Amino acid sequence: MTHHRRITGRLVIATHNPGKLAEMRELLAPHGVTAVSAAELDLGEPEETGDSFRANARIKAVAAAKSAQLPAFADDSGLAVDALNGAPGIFSARWAGPNKDFAAAMARIERLLQERGALRPAQRRAQFVSALCVAWPDDHVEEVEARAEGTLVWPPRGTEGFGYDPMFMPDRHTRTFGEMTSIEKHGLPPLGFGLSHRARAFVKLAEICL
Ligand code: IMP
Repeated sequence: MTHHRRITGRLVIATHNPGKLAEMRELLAPHGVTAVSAAELDLGEPEETGDSFRANARIKAVAAAKSAQLPAFADDSGLAVDALNGAPGIFSARWAGPNKDFAAAMARIERLLQERGALRPAQRRAQFVSALCVAWPDDHVEEVEARAEGTLVWPPRGTEGFGYDPMFMPDRHTRTFGEMTSIEKHGLPPLGFGLSHRARAFVKLAEICL
């Protein structure tokens, strides 16, 4: 049996994104773990040079653990479209450009799907992926990855959520993530068993590390 290392005491959250920080704090609070943000510790942001979600999450967690000399948590996520060989994938944020224009990024995906004649739902399969990594200053890491499977709809629907949410309809649902409240989207226990990629990854991480 694999032995996992538990998170205790203080944990650095290697993100400069306030939304992700708040989500992590909520998850960790019941377990007596105090989250300190990378911004509070003035940690820099390393370049994400990995070729997978997992590699990029690890780069961010290891860099933060080394500079803070504390265990550190990082995540990386994105949308992988089957008919586009997994694009935008690790470039999901970059497809929205410096102005974070996700309407344009979604339109780009739709244009590429139409060019490939991908009009039926079965040809429009996609997954949101979330990779989470906790790294310790002695180089130990714990990693998990989870997915939410669904199809892409056009036009985008809903104003909730962020990023590619309005285009993504998770399996067994008739509404997009953009039409769900964040409670529905994440579907976390005790209300659910994890619907979003990030919620599912958090549940897995909590099982092995908390
Ligand atoms: P990062 O994980 O901060 O590097 O950014 C991942 C990018 O993937 C985000 O900017 C979004 O475009 C997209 N993404 C990741 N998770 C979600 C989600 O839950 N909904 C919508 N878009 C997402």
